[in-house]
Amino acid sequence: MNLEELSKRALKGFMAVEEATRLYEVAREAARHGPCLEIGGYCGLSAAYLGLACRERGSVLFSLDHHEGSEEQQPGAEYFDEELLDPQTGRIDTFPMFRKTIRDLNLENTVVSIVARSAVAARFWRTPLSLVLIDGGHSFEAVFTDYNSWAAHIQPGGFLLIHDIFFDAAQGGQAPRCIYQMALASGLYAELPLVRTLGILQRLPPEGVSDLARERWRRLSV
Ligand code: MG
Repeated sequence: MNLEELSKRALKGFMAVEEATRLYEVAREAARHGPCLEIGGYCGLSAAYLGLACRERGSVLFSLDHHEGSEEQQPGAEYFDEELLDPQTGRIDTFPMFRKTIRDLNLENTVVSIVARSAVAARFWRTPLSLVLIDGGHSFEAVFTDYNSWAAHIQPGGFLLIHDIFFDAAQGGQAPRCIYQMALASGLYAELPLVRTLGILQRLPPEGVSDLARERWRRLSV
């Protein structure tokens, strides 16, 4: 399977093909230097693109999700999907669909599922990551927790990707945009062009203080 074959597959998820293709490209670059991690595996769409890149590089993708669906995917909410309802429990369970996607695409030896809450999975994490994708819950608390828990594990030259960035509040929730701008304001990342709502930041090498960081230091040190 290659990118072209993958892009013809109708996978369940909330990401434009253009964005998913960019995930693949960035992961191809990143995965040579270490494993990738995504937060918000859902039904496996982004894991398919990231996973394909990791497989091609002999790397690994950690896919983190509690698989209970986010707040807007619960019964009665806007993005509720009956296919993801577990009739036994009456609760959302996206893990069976996620596993099916990974199995169908033969990515079982590349994608490592972590079924847990983000902050719990991060507690004893020590492995440097070449790429982190934040695409989990969209409340400020959820996005901030993901950023706070994982950004420090990104190795120099690695990538921080944030999905669902809307600069117009009428188009969507503002938490991912806030975190994106907080990360930028830290001066620790270089900004790469956005692809639709996918923000792409690259962790700067430790040598060389960025202009942004220098400017912030100047303002804070007055
Ligand atoms: Mg998303």
